[in-house]
Amino acid sequence: MNNNGDNPRSKLVIASNNAGKIREFRELLSPFGFDVVSMKEAGFSKEIAEDGETFEENAHIKARAVFEATGIPTIADDSGLEIDFLNGAPGVYSARYAGENATDKERCEKVLEEMHGVAKELRDARFVCSIYFIFDDEDEYSVRGEVCGYIGDELVGDNGFGYDPIFMLDDDESMATISSEEKNKISHRAKAFEQLSVILKEKFS
Ligand code: IMP
Repeated sequence: MNNNGDNPRSKLVIASNNAGKIREFRELLSPFGFDVVSMKEAGFSKEIAEDGETFEENAHIKARAVFEATGIPTIADDSGLEIDFLNGAPGVYSARYAGENATDKERCEKVLEEMHGVAKELRDARFVCSIYFIFDDEDEYSVRGEVCGYIGDELVGDNGFGYDPIFMLDDDESMATISSEEKNKISHRAKAFEQLSVILKEKFS
């Protein structure tokens, strides 16, 4: 495999169709010159049962399903929000926390209701991201990143996606008030990706 720019760029699938996530991964992967495609763009349209008990297990399940179907090196992540006061919920259920068809705003509002009246010092939370990379059948890697914050009292900011507007970094900033460039420096995905990029640099530079 050659990513030196002389040859057509090598494909790499992100095992997701979430536009926000693909955009972030594309930005994070841009130094490596891959042609980053979504599952849909790679021709993969099956449902994957994400029935793992941890973020790591779910990332592995997704990467394996897409890699086996497409034969293209695949990166899958599983990520979500853990809130201490809710014993780690929404956790691996982050995407379906307010039902299958709920919007990001409805999921945020459900969490805000559950945290209503809870003191600030009990509102600690973290975003977690596990990334699983399958290059080929003999080369697989698992990495994890976290970013700590706390759950605010209301939605703040219009940037980002998912639970970003209720995830406070400090009294003034939520994950949805900072720019995507800033988020890409500090996020759980960025931290997991830093570890993955060490692996990618070794393999492709
Ligand atoms: P999944 O990793 O695609 O299964 O996403 C799990 C859930 O966590 C989704 O509902 C996302 O909205 C949420 N999530 C994942 N990453 C982020 C993030 O960076 N900000 C806000 N929410 C996120």
